[in-house]
Amino acid sequence: MIKSDAAAFKSALDGVKSVRIGTHQNPDGDALGSALALSHYLDQLGIANEVLCHNSAPRNLQFLPSVNRVRQTPIAAEVDLAIMIDLESIDRLGTVAPYFQTGAPLMVIDHHMPHEMPGQIRIIDTSAPAAALILARLLKQVDAHFTPEISTLLLAGIVTDTGSFRYRNTTPEALSMAAFLLEHGGNLNRISEEVFQRKPLSATRLLGYALNGMKMSMNGSLAWTVIPNSAFKLANASDEDTEGFVNEMLFTDCVRIAAIFREPNPGKVRCSIRSRSDLDVAQVARKFGGGGHKNAAGCTFEGTIESAESQLVAELEKCLESS
Ligand code: 5GP
Ligand code: MN
Repeated sequence: MIKSDAAAFKSALDGVKSVRIGTHQNPDGDALGSALALSHYLDQLGIANEVLCHNSAPRNLQFLPSVNRVRQTPIAAEVDLAIMIDLESIDRLGTVAPYFQTGAPLMVIDHHMPHEMPGQIRIIDTSAPAAALILARLLKQVDAHFTPEISTLLLAGIVTDTGSFRYRNTTPEALSMAAFLLEHGGNLNRISEEVFQRKPLSATRLLGYALNGMKMSMNGSLAWTVIPNSAFKLANASDEDTEGFVNEMLFTDCVRIAAIFREPNPGKVRCSIRSRSDLDVAQVARKFGGGGHKNAAGCTFEGTIESAESQLVAELEKCLESS
């Protein structure tokens, strides 16, 4: 990225009066942080804009500045430009996908592995740890005004996707951009507390269930757990509450791949997969219609949780065998 991306970004906004911004379903701090930061920047340019997401903000992101901009239905009947950020496939827009397939030009700002390649203007950098970092670069290059709100939103994206600068995707640039955002009023302490250090009792209870039922194979290098719908009901928990569970298993020293299978709603099984080092679990997730990054991926199964478990575990074992 570099100069040409900023030029493409700038010229795509030239003469535009209305923009629709979209991000992925089950949004995280990078999805909402970057979508909302972009919305603030468009405000600075006097461009009408709206932020669409399949879901409303999860509890731990309610603190994000102007989070109430996130909508499930559009305001504008038509827009001059649509922008999707922090996602690669139209599918992951969920129920808001049709609003990005209206014939308006589509810009994609993203850091996932490209596969479907939607959009006419594509600003993609798979080496960037967060979409928010790509956007922060762009905003610097177009001389945006870094308000405390924009800085906090972008910082939330970078902090979330680097796991507070602990993951291997953390680059020198991520740290220097974070420093820049702190200088411009980004509230790191608030982000850390809200995103990582606060959860409801239902989540702690459900984590107990998940860890208690942890299964292992391949001499402990594969760990997984199954959280059926009944466990969600018992703990009075929702899918949001499972955030971070898969990491708890991966952080066991023998474990190289960890997965959770969960059925927050009957009939739909969500899987989160995490791996260490060079083990590519995105490739495994893609076999089941999912995707993600090398070390963090996911997919969804229709049908029973037992069938999802046996299919995915078999593929994860193959992945370990061939490593
Ligand atoms: P999580 O386990 O946190 O839901 O997802 C981890 C990563 O995998 C996310 O960054 C996301 O990009 C990707 N991912 C999760 N579920 C899906 C899916 O169903 N389809 C695709 N393409 N990617 C997914
Ligand atoms: Mn991201």
